[in-house]
Amino acid sequence: MRTIPHWINGATVEGTGDRSLPVFDPATGLQQATVIAATAAEVDDAVKAAAAVQPEWRAASLSRRAEVVFRFRELIDAHRKEIARLLSSEHGKTVADALGEVARGLENVEFAAGAPALLKGGFTEQASTGVDVYSIRQPLGVVAGITPFNFPAMVPLWMCCTALVAGNTFVLKPSEKDPSVSLLLADLWRQAGLPAGAFNVIQGDRTAVDALLSHPQVEAVSFVGSTAVARHIYETGTKAGKRVQALGGAKNHMVVLPDADIAAAADAAVSAGFGSAGERCMAVSVVVAVGSVADPLVAAIAERIREIKVGPASDPNAEMGPLISREHRDRVASYLDTQHGEVIVDGRAAAVSQEPGFFLGASLVDKVPTDSPVYTDEIFGPVLSVVRVDSYEEALELVNTNPYGNGTAIFTRDGGAARRFQYEVVCGMVGINVPIPVPVAYYSFGGWKASLFGDLHMYGPEGLAFYTRTKVVTSRWPDPALSTVDLGFPKVR
Ligand code: NAD
Repeated sequence: MRTIPHWINGATVEGTGDRSLPVFDPATGLQQATVIAATAAEVDDAVKAAAAVQPEWRAASLSRRAEVVFRFRELIDAHRKEIARLLSSEHGKTVADALGEVARGLENVEFAAGAPALLKGGFTEQASTGVDVYSIRQPLGVVAGITPFNFPAMVPLWMCCTALVAGNTFVLKPSEKDPSVSLLLADLWRQAGLPAGAFNVIQGDRTAVDALLSHPQVEAVSFVGSTAVARHIYETGTKAGKRVQALGGAKNHMVVLPDADIAAAADAAVSAGFGSAGERCMAVSVVVAVGSVADPLVAAIAERIREIKVGPASDPNAEMGPLISREHRDRVASYLDTQHGEVIVDGRAAAVSQEPGFFLGASLVDKVPTDSPVYTDEIFGPVLSVVRVDSYEEALELVNTNPYGNGTAIFTRDGGAARRFQYEVVCGMVGINVPIPVPVAYYSFGGWKASLFGDLHMYGPEGLAFYTRTKVVTSRWPDPALSTVDLGFPKVR
């Protein structure tokens, strides 16, 4: 059985730990590789390698750092298909979807290559007589990224490019469920000219994460994953004095007003609900149907769901692949046994022929009560709920009182209603007739409420702010002839 190594100080390192974790091919249900979970000593090796090279990497000129990122961009572009196929083989998403993931990740590399423009500080001439004040942005040191299974290429790229261009060095702890892409990224960084030790990968699970959170040389932690773990990472990391941004789970509502174009809304709900088998943090999981739109909308969604082709990533006709694990598939399927709501399309039947892969067909549950687990839990699979409400106000109340606040969308032809929603909704990312409003790389990505613990969103300008700290310099070049002793507090005059 193939084992997945770490990447420390510019080379692969075989794990020495005594715990092994299986990596499956979700399409066949068979184990294809093994991760040897990192020990605290291996985490320490990776952090030390990153700390050792950080002064050299920080001292590299900004244009040199941007050049390395730019070369990395060229390498990712050239290896798109290889990355997509590799991540599909462990995650299960279709290759077309995986190529989309790589493309969205590439945007972040491109943003980072242009980041010098945003790493400028400020300058105030003559703040006091003969005194100038200016600010500079400096890297933090060694920063860590802990990433989820659902975007094994894109989420690491959200983090590492901005962190590195700002002069930090990086330790990645990818998901143990689909770890191989991390090593390909590491090798592409090496080929791009990044010094050994500036990008490291530690394979494993909670033990590796806890070792990172308690390591004195890790200055900051970026996390993306479920809310329970995000809260743990935020509380533990900040208690240890680290800067932390921890992005959590989601329950994304798509509000459809009575005046919306039904066909377009149904297309959007199905695309965003079932793309990547619903395993996207920005997947639409609840359609909130307002008033008279409900019956025709549910019928249009059901019609489209029945057309979805489920199959392995290797099948070019497949639109939706398997789920990440058998346990997860069974948990998602269990929501269809619910006594709450009406199961309009039951995806379990479609998946039976695909055993022993972790498949589940697309499912639709209508009239879901808001106190049932189908509504309250983050299902993270191909089960789309419909909640029926009578008015815009009721729909807004539903979104705003939900504990999560990652993404939401409104579908309407009424610009005034859309603007009102954008103003009133309590949520980090909003789509207007756009179902998965993942911001482009020159904005930043982040939810509100239980979808993000921390102050700054990820990637883009807020990512750069997260990975740098500001130093303010007050400077004078005095004329010795005018120098005097003055015990008064410095005045701005
Ligand atoms: P997860 O929380 O189980 O795991 C995420 C990472 O944390 C992995 O690297 C894992 O090894 C590690 N981990 C797991 N349990 C841990 C523990 N107890 N202590 C320390 N580390 C631990 O998440 P997942 O199942 O890999 O990914 C799916 C979740 O991620 C969903 O909830 C989804 O909404 C969320 N997600 C959120 C965003 C976002 O931007 N908000 C993006 C993608 C995924």
